[in-house]
Amino acid sequence: MRIVIIGSGFGGLNAAVEIRKKLKHSQLVITVISDREEFIFRPSLIWIPFHKHSIKKFTFPLRPTFEKIGVNFIEKSVKSLMPKQNYVICFDNEIIEYDYLILASGASPDWARIKGIEGKSASIYDISSALKTRKRLEQINEGEPIVIGVAQENPNQGIAYEFLFELDTYLNERCIKCPMTFFTYEKELFDGNGKESTEKLEVLMAEKQIPYYCNVSIEQVDDEKVYLNNGEQLPYSFLLVLPPYKGKECIRSSKDFEHENGILPVHETLQSVQWENIYVVGDANNIKGRKTGRAAELQGILAAENIVKQIHHEPLQSFQHDTLYLMELGKEGGMFIKQGTLKWTTSGMIPHMMKRAFEKYYLLKFS
Ligand SMILES: Cc1cc2nc3c(=O)[nH]c(=O)nc-3n(C[C@H](O)[C@H](O)[C@H](O)COP(=O)(O)OP(=O)(O)OC[C@H]3O[C@@H](n4cnc5c(N)ncnc54)[C@H](O)[C@@H]3O)c2cc1C
Repeated sequence: MRIVIIGSGFGGLNAAVEIRKKLKHSQLVITVISDREEFIFRPSLIWIPFHKHSIKKFTFPLRPTFEKIGVNFIEKSVKSLMPKQNYVICFDNEIIEYDYLILASGASPDWARIKGIEGKSASIYDISSALKTRKRLEQINEGEPIVIGVAQENPNQGIAYEFLFELDTYLNERCIKCPMTFFTYEKELFDGNGKESTEKLEVLMAEKQIPYYCNVSIEQVDDEKVYLNNGEQLPYSFLLVLPPYKGKECIRSSKDFEHENGILPVHETLQSVQWENIYVVGDANNIKGRKTGRAAELQGILAAENIVKQIHHEPLQSFQHDTLYLMELGKEGGMFIKQGTLKWTTSGMIPHMMKRAFEKYYLLKFS
């Protein structure tokens, strides 16, 4: 029995560990293929532009982790998938066959869907873009207009609020005053997370005199302005927009998959709607709800459990959303949201320390 997992982020790593725990028989070969040898605890990327963390502290090499539990690790990039024939092809043309496949390849920012934005927005989706953003912010001068926003269809809006308040704290600490504007396609600030979360953010925006627009989309971006569909034109010198996502190239170039911009439709069991021996987890699938590391982790575990059930001809389980979210708001503290309701808010360093503690726990558990 060959189980192949593509990707070793939150989804892929948890899936591999869970299958190893649940299936012990000697004929089982588990292989993880990933184009990176290290695990990146991506939520911690938010601190890189503000000199609040070091990359070494939230990454670790994966090969020793997988060797310890008897999982093969292949550091290669997958070029395409052949679901009819049950194999995947790597860029060096190596073919890897499977009986079950878990696709945990994540998603990429889809800048091309916003007219004119390519190359103009800062980004924090990976290490190199977070470092570039840090460099740009080191050079920011008094009075430069700043625009932070969430573009239509972005599936993890929380990152924009965290960035906004981190940036506000960073500028205050440096005694630099810049006019900031925020926009989002959400109907209200941080929509869907309870009235209290929205109200808390409204109060903070008023206190900090940050004007904002909700329920808007971007029509176009040029070198000087963001053009919103409500007619507003927002001048910027520093711009950070969270864009829509697209699925990875290996999915987009595989002719036997129906997909929406590379994002794969799945049943509630996380099985591909087309191929019952393929499971898709995390940012790569079209399950509704915020795309988070937490969701990817739970889906990785469920895909592993469902493969074991499928092998034993038992009924499969459906994915249950569990929307725990801890949002840090710079020096303003943070909010803890559970199942769409604000559970508590706090000021000071507690949310920051909780996020760091969770990162430490994760790294200790897996490295
Ligand atoms: C700045 C920031 C802050 C965030 N904050 C939070 C937070 O506070 N809480 C939270 O829960 N989530 C947060 N998230 C979201 C979270 O990080 C993602 O939702 C999560 O990483 C998705 O996990 P994944 O396993 O689906 O995909 P990824 O983490 O993107 O992993 C994809 C894996 O696939 C591999 N891969 C891709 N293509 C190929 C290929 N062709 N061949 C081989 N390997 C391939 C990659 O190398 C990687 O190992 C944040 C994200 C960012 C960027």
